[in-house]
Amino acid sequence: MLIDVALPLPLFRTFTYQVPDGVTGSVTPGSRVVVPFRNRKEIGIVVGLAEPREGMKVKDIVSAPDDAPVMDEPLLALSRWIADYYIVPLGIAVRSALPAALTGVNVPVPARKTRRTARIIMELPTLMRRDRIFARSPQQRALYELIEALGGVSSIEHLEEQLRFSASVLKGLVARGLVEIGFETVERDPFLTRALRAPDAHEPSTAQAHAIARLAMAEPGHVALLHGVTGSGKTLVYLELLRRVVIDEGKTAIVLVPEIALTPQTVDRFRAVFGDRIAVLHSALSDGERYDAWLALRRGEKRIAVGARSAIFAPVRNLGAIVVDEEHEGSYKQGEAPRYHAREVAIVRARAEGAVVVLGSATPALETWANAQSGKYELLTLPVRAGGAQLPLVQVVDLRAPRGKAPPSDVPDAAAAFAMAVSPGLEAALEDRLRKREQSILLLNRRGYAAFVQCGGCGDVAVCPNCSISLTYHRTPERLVCHYCQHAEPLHLTCPRCSGTRLRQRGLGTQQVERLLAERYPSARIARMDVDTTSGKWAHTEILDRVGAGEVDILLGTQMIAKGLDFPNVTLVGVIDADIGINLPDFRASERCFQLLSQVAGRAGRGPKGGEVLIQTRSPSHHAVRCAVTHDYHAFVAQELAGRKYPPYPPMLRIANVVLSGTEEEATARLATRAAAWLHKLLAARPAPGVTIIGPAPCPVERVKNRWRWHVLIKAERPQELGRVGRYLVERFEVPKQHGLRMTLDRDPVALL
Ligand code: ADP
Ligand code: ZN
Repeated sequence: MLIDVALPLPLFRTFTYQVPDGVTGSVTPGSRVVVPFRNRKEIGIVVGLAEPREGMKVKDIVSAPDDAPVMDEPLLALSRWIADYYIVPLGIAVRSALPAALTGVNVPVPARKTRRTARIIMELPTLMRRDRIFARSPQQRALYELIEALGGVSSIEHLEEQLRFSASVLKGLVARGLVEIGFETVERDPFLTRALRAPDAHEPSTAQAHAIARLAMAEPGHVALLHGVTGSGKTLVYLELLRRVVIDEGKTAIVLVPEIALTPQTVDRFRAVFGDRIAVLHSALSDGERYDAWLALRRGEKRIAVGARSAIFAPVRNLGAIVVDEEHEGSYKQGEAPRYHAREVAIVRARAEGAVVVLGSATPALETWANAQSGKYELLTLPVRAGGAQLPLVQVVDLRAPRGKAPPSDVPDAAAAFAMAVSPGLEAALEDRLRKREQSILLLNRRGYAAFVQCGGCGDVAVCPNCSISLTYHRTPERLVCHYCQHAEPLHLTCPRCSGTRLRQRGLGTQQVERLLAERYPSARIARMDVDTTSGKWAHTEILDRVGAGEVDILLGTQMIAKGLDFPNVTLVGVIDADIGINLPDFRASERCFQLLSQVAGRAGRGPKGGEVLIQTRSPSHHAVRCAVTHDYHAFVAQELAGRKYPPYPPMLRIANVVLSGTEEEATARLATRAAAWLHKLLAARPAPGVTIIGPAPCPVERVKNRWRWHVLIKAERPQELGRVGRYLVERFEVPKQHGLRMTLDRDPVALL
């Protein structure tokens, strides 16, 4: 038998192999096969049967490790769509749809972990009987009573290795019929050991009830945008949809959240209703644990997959609904090939499998909004907060206004430094909350201590040797760090250029604000949440649980703290510097800024005490700031859409960002020029209506990790044309094998940096 195999290689073709007699594993479409490829072994997926052709030389497969296909037809079809739409080889699309444990040649498939246990099968209630039975075996009695104390069952490994009981003592108990040895599956998912909370028992509001009813009537493949202001109770709508689909109709569901570590509360709410029907696919899982969850979903033991981006490939069958919470989040887009957007994949999957999709957000992506306006998606609206709560009052603090005296020297004293970070208005609000024992959230979207270090003499700024990015000053541990490539170096004592000694720190980071707050409010309990404080597996959840338990007065952090948190005792949100990122050379900079400000503002006033938001900014008239202040999504969209007409950007049209990179500046620039010329020539020879080529130009961040970067934009009015031109380029344009030259194509990019 001849088969076609997709391999995870950067080659746009499949490969034909022979299945020799005697292979016992499954070799139908969707099964894995190990095949010889250029003197090594690769693991691929069977995608179909091949026809013998004259003079064809085919090799035998090495083995077929599966009893049954690891991908069923719908997931294989979805991978085909990804390969086609995002212009990647099928093998690469397939690989990202499978758990890592199934995609390596040498990674053994971890068996579900079971442990050997000793269980008491004869209870000995009276002490007298024990005295008799164990008269000559006190060790057996000790072990018996220990197992009893452990609840009647214990892992044998634990008894032998930690408690140092010998195997013979246990054997004695077994021989006497008191204890039996068995196996049980170990539940390895730490997320599931969190305490279950009681399910929310709210009567749906009229708007919620309307949304729930509309979703109940939806046809298979229907897509709805649930546009609900922060705190409007979107989760209740998701829960009701899933209750019907999973419990009443016996189907399965997928819930996508931007980042699971940041949304423990959301996960808890789903678990409260659906208990152990849920598989939580969080990033702290090991490959083995992830595989366990994958198996449980595939076997139907778990019926709801909750996870970040890649959970869209959960191997559930009979899919009834997909929820994409915070659908505007950039983390739904994968940063490497295949550069898919989980929201788009969700819609394609739902259409193919007859499921309903709900995209939820307070600040929908402009593309999503455009689709809801055109009628492609149904628009469901939750216009007010649930349970009678009000949206918080948002005020702007204009940092350009003169604020007392400028610091007299290069080294400002503590009071002056504090005043640089916290305006008098925010200071008063913070102190008020501390007095009232209410909680505050402070957003500063920049980690580290200072944004950069600059010489007071010559103006030189320390930059990364590998990237065109200034180094961020970190205080603990003290060093300069590149946030693009993680390069770190000691802090300079003198300027490397002019040997000057007046090195100044510029731009506040979270470490610095944390220190200023701690000095000013020594008795306040402050928690900082950013990449540097959350490297531990459970760090996010621990911090958030502390906030929830009222053990934190001020939660300070980067954009991490803006997502999905529902803490009723948070009555103040302060934005230290709203302007970070607002002027990035990216067509989505304003949109991201508006979303972040709206999201973080939405953390305030979720309880009966109400709430207030203070936004410190130097650009109070920027529409991202202005519209966040008035909670006016529609006004933001109107102005932002106008700005995306000339020059046009999505959602006015579709784009693909073609990035050319290499280790030599000259060669990279030449390649980019050649690619643009090649595209122009292609369009001249085969006209593609509505397609334009922009560039080449250096990327806004010109160098990353020692690679120079240029880009060319392909803009198209219609997706088909974009796909056609992009595919031509990727498949036919030749990139010389020198200077580490490379070309990547990012279709529907979320950022152009
Ligand atoms: P969103 O996700 O839209 O920001 P949530 O789903 O987190 O909002 O809901 C905000 C809060 O409102 C939660 O504490 C939730 O329990 C509560 N809530 C939701 N629906 C209702 C309702 N119908 N009546 C009262 N409270 C509700
Ligand atoms: Zn760097």
